[in-house]
Amino acid sequence: MLTVPAFTWSRPTSVEAVLAEIAGTSRDDVLLVAGGTDAVPNLKHRLHEPRRIVHLAGVRELRETREDEHGLHLGALVRLSQIAGDARIQRDYPAVARAASLVASPQIRNMGTIGGNLCLDTRCTYYNQTFFWREALGFCLKKSGTRCHVVTQGKRCVAAHSSDVAPVLIALGAQVEIANAAARRTIAVEDFFVGDGVHNNVLESGDLVTRILLPAASRGRRMAYQKLRPRAAIDFPMLSVAVAGSLDADGAIEALTVVVGALGARPRTVGQLDAIVRGQAPGEPVWEAVAQAAHKQCRPLTNVPYDPDWRHDMVPVFVRRALRDAFARPA
Ligand SMILES: Cc1cc2nc3c(=O)[nH]c(=O)nc-3n(C[C@H](O)[C@H](O)[C@H](O)COP(=O)(O)OP(=O)(O)OC[C@H]3O[C@@H](n4cnc5c(N)ncnc54)[C@H](O)[C@@H]3O)c2cc1C
Ligand code: SF4
Repeated sequence: MLTVPAFTWSRPTSVEAVLAEIAGTSRDDVLLVAGGTDAVPNLKHRLHEPRRIVHLAGVRELRETREDEHGLHLGALVRLSQIAGDARIQRDYPAVARAASLVASPQIRNMGTIGGNLCLDTRCTYYNQTFFWREALGFCLKKSGTRCHVVTQGKRCVAAHSSDVAPVLIALGAQVEIANAAARRTIAVEDFFVGDGVHNNVLESGDLVTRILLPAASRGRRMAYQKLRPRAAIDFPMLSVAVAGSLDADGAIEALTVVVGALGARPRTVGQLDAIVRGQAPGEPVWEAVAQAAHKQCRPLTNVPYDPDWRHDMVPVFVRRALRDAFARPA
């Protein structure tokens, strides 16, 4: 049986109380827990060994959603099942609802939150294992060791960020609000991630994600999400593709963003698409060119337990599928 390590526990009821509790602590000492669907298994595997757990479930502000001229604000504790089932999100941001609906299983979506999904720890074949397993092989850069088993000469962890919702948020230009005891700041979700699998986001100790903004400007854009996973009933993505775009008054492509997830420590935005798509008629020739650009720019690794060459071959397949989905409805 896997047990959790010893820790103290608190359940503050306001953002200010959370921030006061975590101010001045070190990132390894305190673990924030929202739904706990990722944090608790990681505790059992001794991947996190905090002295203290701060359970966010009692903070009402973090559960709130509201809409204004800037867009739809989702509190960090809004549950994935709520997002998947919300008629307004299904209508205005269908790819967000779709991505949330594809996370794990119904039970996990009922507990898992949008904030936890964004801050999800990176995953790796050599990391998401029991203490016994990792000790037998030799620990790695991400936890207690000095080498990487994926890129053996590598100095950086390349564990995969496997959040389903994050690639869609990036494609839509969503923003995230981060609070600490001194101030609140808002940044683009794209700038939230960094390319180091040990800590793959910009959160410092003392920081709390408070809400996510789905921008008004992205409402009703062409968008889609596609996920490759071993079992449709419950599994992390081994590859994911989010697309968002728009057409001009003549029906030509005005803008297109393609984000590929679950490959490395941060979702990857496919570069230099403007030259391929701008002013073109949406359709198979353009989708093929975009799919090939994504294939060229993406390099799956052995960080998840599925053949990287096969995952690489699947990149253009899933990009094409996502583009067809997104632009299927008439202009
Ligand atoms: C069997 C299984 C299958 C899964 N499949 C998928 C899948 O297909 N796709 C997918 O995306 N995820 C999957 N997950 C992971 C997880 O369930 C989801 O990502 C979920 O959204 C995490 O949310 P949570 O509220 O449970 O996060 P928690 O587990 O509570 O926290 C996750 C991380 O985020 C941090 N955190 C949480 N809230 C905040 C906040 N407000 N501010 C700062 N840091 C915060 C925590 O400290 C922790 O490091 C799976 C998990 C399991 C157990
Ligand atoms: S990518 Fe390397 S350092 Fe990172 S978790 Fe995997 S084995 Fe460890």
